[in-house]
Amino acid sequence: MKIANLIRPLVRELHAYVPGEQPKIAGLIKLNTNENPYPPSPKVLSAVKKAVDGRFRLYPNPTSQPLRQKLAAIHGCGTENVIVGNGSDELLALAIRAFVEPAEVSKGSRSIVQYFTPSYSLYPVLADTHGATKNTVPLGKHFALPTPSELKRGKQWDFKAALSFVTTPNAPSGRGYGRAELEELCKAQKGVLILDEAYVDFAKENALELALKYPNVIISRTFSKAYSLCFQRVGYFIGHPELISALDKIRDSYNVNGLGQVAAVATLDDLEFYRGNFKKVIATRERLSSELASLGFTVSPSEANFVFAKPVKFSAQEWLKKLRDRKILVRWFGYPETKDFLRITIGTDKEADAFLRAVRQILAK
Ligand SMILES: *Cc1c(COP(=O)(O)O)cnc(C)c1O
Repeated sequence: MKIANLIRPLVRELHAYVPGEQPKIAGLIKLNTNENPYPPSPKVLSAVKKAVDGRFRLYPNPTSQPLRQKLAAIHGCGTENVIVGNGSDELLALAIRAFVEPAEVSKGSRSIVQYFTPSYSLYPVLADTHGATKNTVPLGKHFALPTPSELKRGKQWDFKAALSFVTTPNAPSGRGYGRAELEELCKAQKGVLILDEAYVDFAKENALELALKYPNVIISRTFSKAYSLCFQRVGYFIGHPELISALDKIRDSYNVNGLGQVAAVATLDDLEFYRGNFKKVIATRERLSSELASLGFTVSPSEANFVFAKPVKFSAQEWLKKLRDRKILVRWFGYPETKDFLRITIGTDKEADAFLRAVRQILAK
């Protein structure tokens, strides 16, 4: 028996998502996966510890109701506008399954998953997994968001695409987009438009109100990056109740685990703590950016918890290795539009200092 024949051809040929490494190396400085360098609030940790008891035998709340109520109150919408997922990645996958036809079922715009390049490298994997058609359009100069009229002139963007993603602030460039320019696209777009705001707490503006104003627009948020909760896997969407309930129909019945719900609720009860962390990350980001620029790196202005920088003297791929030799992990993406850059997660000030020390050593060699 040829085992490979037991697997769908689509899956056999699929290129899976490649997450940043999580190696166990003593003394490693990990600036490769945009994790927050600061631990969650002590109140969050104690809420989780308190929940570790006999209730493990019970299923968690199937609709994450207490968490959705809190999110709705904070964002000024109804609980019917909110769905919680096992990380926002789960919800992004559900959105493709709910809104996009596989190409073998329907051709044209109905089967299109569309996004700008560069952006989040999970979108193509999710589209391929579903057998959808991918449509990509390059961002403008310095990773600018093309205006609707530029997109019309370019003829490549499909305003009727079943589903489009905009990563805002953009990953991996860190470039932030204003609410006004995003609104232009929201107005022009006929299909579902997801504004992926994974990094928005580090940005100047957010676009939440657009998801409450335009029925085809959804905002995606996560507790992973700004709220130091990667480990627990909690993300959410805000959008029109009809879109949200379509997603709700196809999710797993208990998609968000109990401790994740507890941790996320406790996080929302202590937002002041996190605002302090955002400020620290932003201050370190600005310092790292200007020091790297003074060493000759071209640093893309960032509104996220990472910077995207084009190094000098060696190729970005060589820098990746030289930094790794010094136990510093950053991220490099080998796509044509990203291969000249390193993506460096903002760590603590101490980590930033160690990183800059290593950069100076490498430059001096
Ligand atoms: C990290 C990230 C996510 C996913 O976050 P989850 O941990 O699955 O909630 C989504 N979009 C972008 C752009 C990200 O960088």
